[in-house]
Amino acid sequence: MASDSTDEHVDGIVRRLGEMGLSGHTSKGAERTVIGVIGVGFPNELPEIIEVMPGVDHVARITKSWKHASREFKPTDTIVKVRDVEIGGNELVVMAGPCSVESREQVLETAHAVKAAGARIMRGGAFKPRTSPYSFQGLGEKGLELLAEAREQTGLPIITEVMEPGDVSLVAAYSDILQIGARNMQNFPLLKEAGRSQKPVMLKRGMAGTIDEWLNAAEYIMSEKNFQVILCERGIRTFETMVRNTLDLSAVPVVKRLSHLPVVADPSHGTGKWYLVKPLALASLAVGAHGLIVEVHPNPDAALSDGPQSLTLESFASMMDGLRTLAEPLERIVAPGTSRVPAAFAQVAV
Ligand code: PEP
Ligand code: MN
Repeated sequence: MASDSTDEHVDGIVRRLGEMGLSGHTSKGAERTVIGVIGVGFPNELPEIIEVMPGVDHVARITKSWKHASREFKPTDTIVKVRDVEIGGNELVVMAGPCSVESREQVLETAHAVKAAGARIMRGGAFKPRTSPYSFQGLGEKGLELLAEAREQTGLPIITEVMEPGDVSLVAAYSDILQIGARNMQNFPLLKEAGRSQKPVMLKRGMAGTIDEWLNAAEYIMSEKNFQVILCERGIRTFETMVRNTLDLSAVPVVKRLSHLPVVADPSHGTGKWYLVKPLALASLAVGAHGLIVEVHPNPDAALSDGPQSLTLESFASMMDGLRTLAEPLERIVAPGTSRVPAAFAQVAV
């Protein structure tokens, strides 16, 4: 829309699109308003019809295949609201918890500790995508119940993975955010079902997924009219063997340029080693991530999955302190309403 266009002009366009059986998505930025419209079999003369309407500056075709996810469709950043937490704004939202939900004690102890240290969302896997069929597969619905209990006690919203289209409604009944794992980035029936749930979805990048494929995967969710999508960079497979994956930090600013969707980083799966989590968490904040997802366990040596990359409760608190310090010069917010851990705790932290 032209910079001097009015709300009536915008309404007029949206109404005209409606008459043609199309729905316009209006995004108002500080500088200009953009009306995005996506449809199959547009009338050929659509650009000409709209271009001459009052208040219109110009009509441009979105050439990307991930149309809803593109900045052309929506120039302003998307904020995904989960209860009282906003992902996609100035706050670095930290999601933390165990790789797998193992027991009531483990989940509740972790939930209280990560909340005290400044986590805003609790993570925990109930349905686990394990490389070996003989590894611990997760507690299933029992795990979801335990996560819900942790939310009740702490007030932290929950994020947990869903692996199958048939489980989406079950997981959505318990969880505040559906997590789609790296191994399922291109499980298209799962993406569509997660889209239809109308729940916020965090889509992890596949370990061999290009950014273009990742955004197309997000488009599958958005094509079901679910715009609450969060992207998660969790490391890609490279020739390097010293780390489990190579956390592609460049993906964060690349995606922020291409898309309006929030991007979070996972330095746990992105490195596979607990002592690399804090430095890569700081780096993720520095490159502009909107959030982090981090694995934390009260006793990583005894964890049923991903112990080597899990932070202890103390080292999680130390990571949060580092993030608070770095956030200041970057003018970002981390863990509002909480402060540095007591000195006694900090001494044992790495
Ligand atoms: C997880 O978050 O526990 C997980 C399995 O992650 P990814 O899908 O990135 O491997
Ligand atoms: Mn894990």
